[in-house]
Amino acid sequence: MNKIFVVGASIAGPVVCYWLKKAGYAPTLVEKNDGLRKGGYAVDIRGIAVDVVKKMGVLEAIAEQRMSIQLSRHVDTEGHTLRQEEPETAGFRLGEDVEISRGDLVQIFMDLIPDVPCHFSQSITQLDQQKEGVEVTFSDGSIEHYDLVVGADGLHSKTRRLVFLESDYTKVDLGACISVANIPNFLKLRHEEILFEAHNKSIHYVSDKDPNLAQVRFMLRSDKSSIRRVEE
Ligand SMILES: Cc1cc2nc3c(=O)[nH]c(=O)nc-3n(C[C@H](O)[C@H](O)[C@H](O)COP(=O)(O)OP(=O)(O)OC[C@H]3O[C@@H](n4cnc5c(N)ncnc54)[C@H](O)[C@@H]3O)c2cc1C
Repeated sequence: MNKIFVVGASIAGPVVCYWLKKAGYAPTLVEKNDGLRKGGYAVDIRGIAVDVVKKMGVLEAIAEQRMSIQLSRHVDTEGHTLRQEEPETAGFRLGEDVEISRGDLVQIFMDLIPDVPCHFSQSITQLDQQKEGVEVTFSDGSIEHYDLVVGADGLHSKTRRLVFLESDYTKVDLGACISVANIPNFLKLRHEEILFEAHNKSIHYVSDKDPNLAQVRFMLRSDKSSIRRVEE
C-alpha cells in the first residue's frame, strides 16, 4: 500500500499527510476551496494536541504565532463592562496550552509538507471500493486509483456521506448554531475580546494582531428543524 488520498486541507488533512510521509507513504491532498482556508477562529492546542505538535516539531512556531489577547470583557447591551477576565482563565488554558488562529495553524502544518501534492478547487463525487484499492471520481470528471482514502473533510464530511448510509453513524446534535466571519475592526479594539449574551444567544467580537481586522462569532440555540444546510 502506497498511494493514499486525503480529502480536506485544513487541520486534520495536512497532519495526517505529515505522519503518512514519515511512515513512508505517498499521500495526496485534495481541497475543494481554491486555496488554503486562512480565515476562522482561534483554536486551543491543549492536552494531547500539545504532545502531537511537539512530536511534529512545531510547538515553537505555534507559540510564536499565538494569539495575544490581553483583555476579555463581558458587556451589556450598552457596551458597559459586566465582568472582566484574564483571557487565559476565560479560555481554560493551562500549562503549555496555546491559542492560535485557525488559519495560522493550517499554514504551519502545510509548511511541513511542501512535497505533498495538494489539488485545490477539486472535490470528490464517487468512491468505489474495488478488490485492489479505491476508484475515486473527481468533480472535474477525472478518475484515479488509490490504495486508501482518508476523509479529513470536516464535520459534514462528504467522504463519510459517500461511503456510509446516514443510518450507519450517529451525529450528535448539540442544539447550537455557530457562525464566524472576518469584519473590519469598527470597534477599534486591540488585543481584546468582548462577549455579549442574552436569551440563549451570544456574540463574541475579537481583534488581535491586525488592527484593521476583527472576527465576530454568533451563536444561538436552535432545534434541528429550523436549520437548513446547503449540501454540495
Ligand atoms: C468558533 C470555533 C471555535 C473553535 N475552537 C476550537 C478550539 O478552541 N480548539 C479546538 O481544538 N477546536 C476548535 N474548534 C473546532 C476546530 O475548528 C475543528 O475541530 C477543526 O477545524 C477541525 O479540523 P478538520 O481538519 O477536521 O476539519 P475542517 O477544519 O472543517 O476542514 C475540513 C476541510 O475539508 C475541506 N472539504 C470539505 N469538503 C470537501 C470535499 N468534498 N472535497 C475536498 N475538500 C473538502 C474544507 O474546505 C476544509 O478545508 C472551533 C471551531 C469553531 C467554529
